[in-house]
Amino acid sequence: MNLSEVLQWARAYDASVSLPAIRILLARTLNQSPLFLLKNPSYVLQAENLKAFQGAIKKLSEGMPLSRILGEREFWSLPFKLNESTLDPRPDSECLVEAVMHQIPDSTSPLRILDLGTGTGCLLISLLSEYPKAVGIGVDQSAQALDAARTNADNLLESPKRVSFVESNWFSEVQGTFDVIISNPPYISENEYQVLDKSVKDYDPQAALVGGEDGLQAYQHIIQNARPFLNPEGILVLEIGYQQNESVSVLLKENSFQRVAIQKDLAGIDRCLVSKLCA
Ligand code: GLN
Repeated sequence: MNLSEVLQWARAYDASVSLPAIRILLARTLNQSPLFLLKNPSYVLQAENLKAFQGAIKKLSEGMPLSRILGEREFWSLPFKLNESTLDPRPDSECLVEAVMHQIPDSTSPLRILDLGTGTGCLLISLLSEYPKAVGIGVDQSAQALDAARTNADNLLESPKRVSFVESNWFSEVQGTFDVIISNPPYISENEYQVLDKSVKDYDPQAALVGGEDGLQAYQHIIQNARPFLNPEGILVLEIGYQQNESVSVLLKENSFQRVAIQKDLAGIDRCLVSKLCA
């Protein structure tokens, strides 16, 4: 089959899959640009490429997100590799990067940043790309997630030595103090998880999504244990789920943190809380 026939095949296989997604998958299979597809409609695919492309279209048709098929997702305009142990980075989480930048406008600050539950490393690596003098530690309980994070740091940072990744249950293996502690922890309740959309439930790791029965367990643990790891003027920046502002703010208050900012996401929903230790 040539390119034009292959595109027709994909459209006929499942008319509901989007043409841009088909084009991206075809270009990726051939290791070519989308422009190549337009310019060479009569280019004939090799058998193995055809098979790989058809396999990818079947996955797309079954509901696998494009980012999972590609093993890659753009976040903060950077391409992050994912694997089955990492969350698929969401555009909403970019608001956590923005929240830190609002709080610390000087991009030359030599910050020490700790990222709890780093996953792909998207939050930490994006921040390090904005603060060239900063250094960071990303922790995760999953060794496989840390593999993805290390690959991303190697690919995306000019000096990957500015970052290290540690297998740790939250703070358990962390040493030192930090100017910025960030986390997008699992925050969905067990009930919410049951009714989650298939495109999330079937592909994102449960451990990265569910924060105990009420969704607040990770926040509780982080907020109760953060104090010795924060510099006196340091900030704790947490992504929160829809309608969790109040309950997480209560946890902060109970543990002598003062909330200094709330960052909304693109949909206008409170998405991220910035806090400091009370004096
Ligand atoms: N920090 C990572 C992210 O924002 C992973 C978060 C998680 O697994 N809950 O993508």
